[in-house]
Amino acid sequence: MVKNMKDIQILNQYDFKFKKKYGQNFLNDDNILNNIVTKSEITKDTLVMEIGVGAGALTLKMQPYAKNIIGYEIDKSLKNILDDKFKDKNNVEIIYCDFLQRNIKDDLEKYNYSDLYVISNLPYYITTPIINKLISDKIDVSKIVVMVQKEVGDRFNAKPGTKEYNSLTIFLNYYFDINKLLDVSRNSFVPKPNVDSVVIQMKRKNKKYNVDNEELFFKIVRDAFTYKRKNLKNNLKKYNLDKIDEVLHKHNLDLNVRAESLSIDIFIEISNYLNNDM
Ligand code: SAM
Repeated sequence: MVKNMKDIQILNQYDFKFKKKYGQNFLNDDNILNNIVTKSEITKDTLVMEIGVGAGALTLKMQPYAKNIIGYEIDKSLKNILDDKFKDKNNVEIIYCDFLQRNIKDDLEKYNYSDLYVISNLPYYITTPIINKLISDKIDVSKIVVMVQKEVGDRFNAKPGTKEYNSLTIFLNYYFDINKLLDVSRNSFVPKPNVDSVVIQMKRKNKKYNVDNEELFFKIVRDAFTYKRKNLKNNLKKYNLDKIDEVLHKHNLDLNVRAESLSIDIFIEISNYLNNDM
């Protein structure tokens, strides 16, 4: 591991105190930082969005490659450090706010770009809300490259029938092709967290699934996973269970099955079949 001592010295110089409540585990490993930047394949047409800039270690590595970087950071006590670090870099804008409360679409409107990439070492305590916000705000992102804790990364890419598989897995796989780029040891961060991490890449799918009614599809998926221990007969009782059973039978399944056993394709088949009723 190549430690970036200079960044630590700067943090000490500014008398910076790490705040656990903000999930502040800063990347301090040059190999990992370089690897994230190389594998992200940023181009001069790319607008990069970074959620949780921290002391700007990743931002600084990405800056020469990107058209623009828009970074979000909740901790205003990092402003002096970041102002100094980026004073000559006019393609970097840092907004001090809670990303979850922010109107992202308004921020993006100011920029001209052909592709938007989200590249971040995420604050782990809000990984899922951040991903959900990107989806529900309908941000037109072409690629997401995020460092997340290993268990969460496993969930993004989980296969049906595993305990990690849930509605978020289905939503993410609906929009993106997902793969793991890197394993990252807990020793690559200051302060050292209690968990290891992975860098996950999610690339917007070229070919969309054939869903007749997206709203209904998302609702069925959410409802099917409402009570994890309950089967479809219970979780989906407000829908036409006979029709759902018909679809399941084609796949040698029945209503006693739990949502975690169903592939995205079966959920789509159910939703399209029920949509004919509406
Ligand atoms: N990118 C830096 C790095 O890799 O070293 C820092 C990553 S650190 C895991 C997460 C960062 O997200 C912290 O700097 C933290 O203050 C910031 N953060 C936490 N909650 C946030 C929120 N709601 N909105 C914006 N930034 C947040």
